[in-house]
Amino acid sequence: MTVRQGSRRCFSSSKNLQATWGFIGLGRMGFPMAKNLRAKLPAEDTLFVHDVNTAATSKFLEEHPEGVRVADNVREVAEKAETIITSLPEPHHVAGVYKQMLEPPSLLTDGFVTTERLFIDCSTIDPMTSKSVADAAHSSGQGRFIDAPMSGGVVGAQAGTLTFMIGAAPEVVERATAVLSMMGRRVLHLGEQGSGLHGKLANNYLLALNNIATAEAMNMGIQWGLDPKALAGMINISTGKCWPSEVNNPVPGVVEGSPASRGYEGGFGVSLANKDLKLAIKSAKESGIKLALGDQAKAFYDEVEAAENCKGRDFSVVYRHLGGKE
Ligand code: NAD
Repeated sequence: MTVRQGSRRCFSSSKNLQATWGFIGLGRMGFPMAKNLRAKLPAEDTLFVHDVNTAATSKFLEEHPEGVRVADNVREVAEKAETIITSLPEPHHVAGVYKQMLEPPSLLTDGFVTTERLFIDCSTIDPMTSKSVADAAHSSGQGRFIDAPMSGGVVGAQAGTLTFMIGAAPEVVERATAVLSMMGRRVLHLGEQGSGLHGKLANNYLLALNNIATAEAMNMGIQWGLDPKALAGMINISTGKCWPSEVNNPVPGVVEGSPASRGYEGGFGVSLANKDLKLAIKSAKESGIKLALGDQAKAFYDEVEAAENCKGRDFSVVYRHLGGKE
């Protein structure tokens, strides 16, 4: 992949040769993503970073003394960078950050960078908030906004092997793909703005339910006296096979190296799984889509998230909360 595809040189009318980039939100995902981005950019380009947590920006600058500038606030990032990536926790963080970046609507005329911005939001949020941010960017004419939620977790972010599901107008897909390919392996264009989030939430809804169902089925079989590995082996060549049964089996010892086999440490945190489930339920309800199991699953994850012996662990810990034999 050529880096230059995604940089100013191909699509900008600016006289400068260097491209400018922005990254907001140097958290568990954002920090390694920004690291990979910086590593793949030409040395002469500048990456502006910002996080409300100054320890994160200081650490980033320490690790990358060349080609990185810490911006005082998110407006400065929007003023100085032409391609801006955000990786923020919740919908209200995304709404707040974009409001500050887009107001006043003078990004193209204030003299720093005069080209239309490309805003790429990698956060997992609800499609409605994402649409309102997109509308603000598009109606003010300051830039294009796409949703690009990701999967692959912290390990994928570190290795640069993330999958991005993007919702974008056709004319920005090539540019966005070039940018995201510096941080991931696959970029799936699912349709217009909002489609990336719709795809991500539908997938994570299914995952949240499959995870509980797998824990219940494994617990059921084990209580009936079946051997855990024999049961999982049978399911995994039968119609119950799914990612939680095959890769992330919730019973300790069934899959070597799985979170369950190391005390449910690491993996996909139960709060993150519950956050995505709640976003999917909220968005489905807003669209008038009937769900049979969502509310019950949510109530169960709320319990698991609050239980002393489960909180902060991989979401397969639902098996422990069911009273499964460990
Ligand atoms: P995180 O909480 O570790 O990082 C978010 C960062 O944003 C933090 O460093 C925080 O200080 C910063 N931040 C918050 N408000 C800010 C503001 N107003 N201005 C600037 N910075 C601000 O979260 P994460 O795990 O890196 O996840 C980021 C997003 O990616 C979330 O939406 C999450 O659901 C999604 N996601 C996470 C994973 C995962 O495994 N962690 C996997 C896929 C998707």
